[in-house]
Amino acid sequence: MDLRIPLLVKIPVLLIISWLFGGCGTKVGLVEEGNKVLIKPVNLAEMPMGEGSLAITHVHVLDVRTGNLLPLHTIWIRDGLIESVFPDGTEVLPGSVEVVDGAGRYVIPGLIDVHFHLDQLRGLPHLFLKKGITALRDPGAWIEAYGNERRRGEQLPRLYLTGPHLDMFPPAHPKDALIIRDEEEARQQVRNLVGRGASAIKIYYRMSLGLIQAAADECKKLGVPSTAHLEISDVREVIRAGVTGIEHVTSFGLALISPIEAEVYRQKVLADNHARREGRYEMWSGLDFGDKRNTVKEIFDLMKEKEVFFCPTLAVFEVGEESEDEVRGLGFQKMMEFTALAYGKGVDLTVGSHSYVPYASYGSAYQREMELMHACGMSLADLIRAATWGNARFLGAQEEIGSIEPGKKADLVLLSSNPLEHVKNLENVEKVMLNGVWVD
Ligand SMILES: [Zn+2]
Repeated sequence: MDLRIPLLVKIPVLLIISWLFGGCGTKVGLVEEGNKVLIKPVNLAEMPMGEGSLAITHVHVLDVRTGNLLPLHTIWIRDGLIESVFPDGTEVLPGSVEVVDGAGRYVIPGLIDVHFHLDQLRGLPHLFLKKGITALRDPGAWIEAYGNERRRGEQLPRLYLTGPHLDMFPPAHPKDALIIRDEEEARQQVRNLVGRGASAIKIYYRMSLGLIQAAADECKKLGVPSTAHLEISDVREVIRAGVTGIEHVTSFGLALISPIEAEVYRQKVLADNHARREGRYEMWSGLDFGDKRNTVKEIFDLMKEKEVFFCPTLAVFEVGEESEDEVRGLGFQKMMEFTALAYGKGVDLTVGSHSYVPYASYGSAYQREMELMHACGMSLADLIRAATWGNARFLGAQEEIGSIEPGKKADLVLLSSNPLEHVKNLENVEKVMLNGVWVD
């Protein structure tokens, strides 16, 4: 049988295939408006959008930007967007508005998780949504890895994806890495990823400083954030290279030890990726921030000057008090201490769950991360601001999400108790709204 396909059939088929996998893909994550690039979730087109008018009355609304709780307010939502927020009865609603009495409830903007990994955790994004997380960023997975979740038909949070992280040979996670060999390849891969819907770029720890600089520079040109997980680079050099975020508290370790210790550690990890796992607790257990006062100050000053975000992901490193491993226990305490110092100095902290962590039940990693950040001394108003408005700014999506203000998407969480009174109250989720649609 002759399997050759005639050219007249082949051309339209190829055009359809390239439209399905290329053409439409290029517009999913990033929508260009003139010269301005808008950062969008990859699943925007699949998300149900609220229709008509709805008002939630008699609720206490948290203005996350000021930290003020606005008592007995009404939130009016029209076609999935917040139309207005006003004290009960001070504005007349049209007769066609569906009214939901929210008496006794507290409303915060949808929570955002800026460090989520899908791995093989089927259904986890939907579970997170039910717990109030209306947007997430996965820093380091193929965009296609979310295909199954997107096809399941359940409502999903807004998915801000980065594609595989950029790394050098031999990568620690080959399945989720793009290996970079030179500067031009770094720039090319950034452009490819952004073209395919990535709304940020994740830089992984084997990348050399020169390549980090090239990738971060290309991101800057395109107007997308670049964020780094470090093990063997000095965070100060990486910040000066132009990244907009630092993932994991452990990324700061190398800058806080002596230059010779740093070089020994660097060589160990360069030779064997596994060396970082226990090595980082050993390193952190020996840190003295008093001794390193000037370095700590230099790091935080630099972060504030360059407006670099810090996502500690404490929960994934947590070592419980009952642990008999003193080195790990002390190492984790130092990570908490360092995060507390960053908060005290006014560094922009963000909240990332890492999906699944040792000291939280399945689906509650984000809540555990908030508890730990609160235990670092963050006030609840600052913590919720970081989890919503701060995270939206880190994503570059603050025009659309992250606060309850007219014109924003109606991503809301209704709580049964005051979130400014106790961190656990953030778990008392009664209802979640995404894009103006109630989550079932
Ligand atoms: Zn991660």
